[in-house]
Amino acid sequence: MLPAHPQAAPAEHVERQPECPLDREELGRNTWSFLHTMAAYYPDRPSPRQQTDMGQFINLFSKVFPCEECAEDLRTRLKTNQPDASSRHALSQWLCGVHNDVNARLGKQPFDCSLVDERWRDGWKDGSCD
Ligand code: FAD
Repeated sequence: MLPAHPQAAPAEHVERQPECPLDREELGRNTWSFLHTMAAYYPDRPSPRQQTDMGQFINLFSKVFPCEECAEDLRTRLKTNQPDASSRHALSQWLCGVHNDVNARLGKQPFDCSLVDERWRDGWKDGSCD
């Protein structure tokens, strides 16, 4: 289960940021956080219904994501690379691959997909997220 407040800082250390509409970078970062976390907590053995729901969710998401260029790019990728929702591992790896394709398109470094569970579910093995 997802911890409620994994890294809650003491109140006196919280810096107040202005609450503003998201730009593309912020929207992207927050959305990837949601998508990877959703994959990280997807069932190891999903039912046929859960697999269908996840596939439909990702395809619908590609129609409503409010960055038109990003959504169009994702829809194009989905034409030849449909989500693998057969297990938590499969979905996490599929999403990591898609994110890496986007990273490449934007000239960013690839992420090592063997580390997705450390990044999005378990925390780094060095204990830095504990
Ligand atoms: P992000 O790419 O947002 O990544 C956030 C964090 O995820 C990283 O710090 C890293 O810890 C982790 N991470 C990085 N790669 C992976 C991976 N492969 N697997 C798992 N974890 C990873 N922007 C555009 O300008 N054009 C686009 O076409 C575009 N398409 C997008 C499509 C989608 C579906 C989404 C969600 C976003 C898209 N974006 C696009 C936004 C873009 O991908 C970034 O989110 C944004 O540029 C901010 O980048 P960032 O460097 O902060 O890290």
